[in-house]
Amino acid sequence: MKVPFLDLSRPHRELRSEILAAFAETYDAGRFCLGADVTAFEAEFAAASGATSAVGVANGTAALHAVARALNLGPGDDVIVPAFTFIASAWTASYVGAKPVFCDVDPVTFNATAETIAAAITPQTKAIVVVHLFGQAADMDPILALGRERDLPVIEDCAQAHLATYHGRPVGTMGVAGTFSFYPTKNLGGVGEGGAVISQDEGLLDQVRLLRVHGSNVRYQHDAIGYNYRMEGLQAAALRVKLKHLERYTAGRRKIAARYRDGITLADTILPQPAPWGDSVYHQFTLLHPRREALREHLAAHDIGTDLIYPRALHQQPCYADVGPAEGALPVAEKTARNCLSLPIFPELTDAEIDHVITTINAF
Ligand SMILES: *Cc1c(COP(=O)(O)O)cnc(C)c1O
Repeated sequence: MKVPFLDLSRPHRELRSEILAAFAETYDAGRFCLGADVTAFEAEFAAASGATSAVGVANGTAALHAVARALNLGPGDDVIVPAFTFIASAWTASYVGAKPVFCDVDPVTFNATAETIAAAITPQTKAIVVVHLFGQAADMDPILALGRERDLPVIEDCAQAHLATYHGRPVGTMGVAGTFSFYPTKNLGGVGEGGAVISQDEGLLDQVRLLRVHGSNVRYQHDAIGYNYRMEGLQAAALRVKLKHLERYTAGRRKIAARYRDGITLADTILPQPAPWGDSVYHQFTLLHPRREALREHLAAHDIGTDLIYPRALHQQPCYADVGPAEGALPVAEKTARNCLSLPIFPELTDAEIDHVITTINAF
């Protein structure tokens, strides 16, 4: 039996007629860049995310960049970023000329903590980026307390954490702003690029709205140096269809995670555990194993797709060689990058496929 790491053709086949019908409407009305579909999606996504409003943008990276600009981060500023995450979290700092200061992560949640963040604060620190990695909310209360104490805004990168909660509070609503990605592989994925910003601060959202259309609210008057970060109408139309299924998709991911946790008994394996403040939405199910390359080859030999997410911590990336810190300084992030292995966890996996993954791992 062949088990792909990810198979997007399954949900897309299932929703084909519904999404194409939505496309036809948007196409016939010519609502291509922003417009009524985007406005409707923004309202529906805000409601689903526990926010009062959302601003749709071109992608999740644009969302982070626009928030960094709205917070006036720039050259001379340090921005704390977890060392174990997708590179775009660090672009939040780099795109505006600020410096990402990488902090270590927790060995259980793989997320930054108040302690690891506090250890990275410098006199130049102006903001904290928290990532709810793999769908697991970070331990926010101590981080928010630290942010208040040091007067540092906390940006929540929720690109992997749609519908995740922390003690019942939705991710993205606790810090100054939350950013989302709708890249096709994310828990809520479009059929192309997309992103959004949520915030309780309408002034900040107005800034994002300004920046996404060339810094202009009045035709050919440009109040800020902005971008073309508009969300596409066709993407919003597809996302409105997919959003209706997101709770079901999330429940599906959680069920698979529980089955992996119950079924995998391989020695020396560390499996993701639900945090006391709320279970993950399992964008990834990432285990740690000291011989992950051999385990990966064993799974590949049995036709099971896996991925290394992520094989390098950010301070180990060539583009940040001059930023540091040196190898060894962030031991948990480095060890996680060495030992992590992500298993298939998309909602359409069949019971037989899940069993094949479990049996094959246990036979290693
Ligand atoms: C995907 C992702 C992003 C960037 O989103 P794009 O839509 O691909 O630009 C940012 N941060 C994290 C943690 C991500 O996983």
